[in-house]
Amino acid sequence: MLDLNNRLEPCSICKHEYTTIHLESTSGWEIHVCASCVEATKYNFIWMCLNCGKIYIRPKSLVIKNINDYELRKAYARCANMQIIQGLDMCMECDPDRLFNSMNVMKIEAQC
Ligand SMILES: [Zn+2]
Ligand SMILES: [Zn+2]
Repeated sequence: MLDLNNRLEPCSICKHEYTTIHLESTSGWEIHVCASCVEATKYNFIWMCLNCGKIYIRPKSLVIKNINDYELRKAYARCANMQIIQGLDMCMECDPDRLFNSMNVMKIEAQC
């Protein structure tokens, strides 16, 4: 869901660009993303920890290659052409065992 308003807010991903691009998930979680970070979602998966706010950016091809679980890899491969930012309820620093082992995340789609 892409929504434009006139309020400039710091980008939630890079933290230094100001942007009016504002994304909202169906669950009401919202972030601001600048144009260059939206662009980055074309080539990278971006995760944001909703617990500590840390951002993880990984190249899509690398992520898909490194997933051992067949079903999970298929799920991520399906997302490879989408521009998404995923919200993790815990990141690897908050909980090292939970790194990307679940698709049970809030998904924000910039474009699909
Ligand atoms: Zn940004
Ligand atoms: Zn965290």
